[in-house]
Amino acid sequence: MYLNEFFKDADMILVGIGENFQDKFDEIEVADEKNVTILEDYARKKYLDTCPKSDVTEAYEKLAKMLEGKNYFVVTLCTDDKIYHTNIKSDRIVAPCGSYSYLQCEEVCTEDIYLVEEYKDILDKGEEPICPKCGKKLVMNRIGVKKYSEEGYLKKWNTYMKWLQGSLNRNIRVLELGVGMKYPSVIRWPFERVTLINNKAKFMRVHKQLFQLTEDIRDKGISIEENPIDFLRNQIV
Ligand SMILES: [Zn+2]
Repeated sequence: MYLNEFFKDADMILVGIGENFQDKFDEIEVADEKNVTILEDYARKKYLDTCPKSDVTEAYEKLAKMLEGKNYFVVTLCTDDKIYHTNIKSDRIVAPCGSYSYLQCEEVCTEDIYLVEEYKDILDKGEEPICPKCGKKLVMNRIGVKKYSEEGYLKKWNTYMKWLQGSLNRNIRVLELGVGMKYPSVIRWPFERVTLINNKAKFMRVHKQLFQLTEDIRDKGISIEENPIDFLRNQIV
């Protein structure tokens, strides 16, 4: 199945990027995956800044080409910011799980977030930056930290919601790429619902294991049992 065909005649394209695309940071050692320190996270951030080329980068580049000139929105579960290094427009991407570009207070004494760049000097010295409001530590603004500040993505989320409200009765194509069951309320369930309530919607789910479609959207959907990264890389554009 070629995506160009699926996207043909679409008024709007909604894309969901799942955890399959997230960088696993294999090259950066951490002592305890459940309690990653800010300095370890900063090492990951520095690694990401080198824009490491991978199969995922190649997959994004294909996707970017196919979305060019179209009315789209991308929701991603990734926090690695790799998608921002592609030609996919950043104002059309929302990343509800956070980002390695921002810091937040570990206790969320305020929802405020801070650019990692601004704390570069401190971090480069191997010191832990401190919350300017309460003096506790700053941590990465990403899901997985003890308390997650959602401030970083809410504005974009509102833009996305407005965009979505305009999709009723329009030819929307819903593409879900490698989205598993880790955070189903972010992409998986709402995407199914968008498909269900719109008579003109068409849905495509690409996943190596969780490719099945629910009964109620089966007649609007295509299910592809494939690694979504390979699926994109194999597209002809
Ligand atoms: Zn604080």
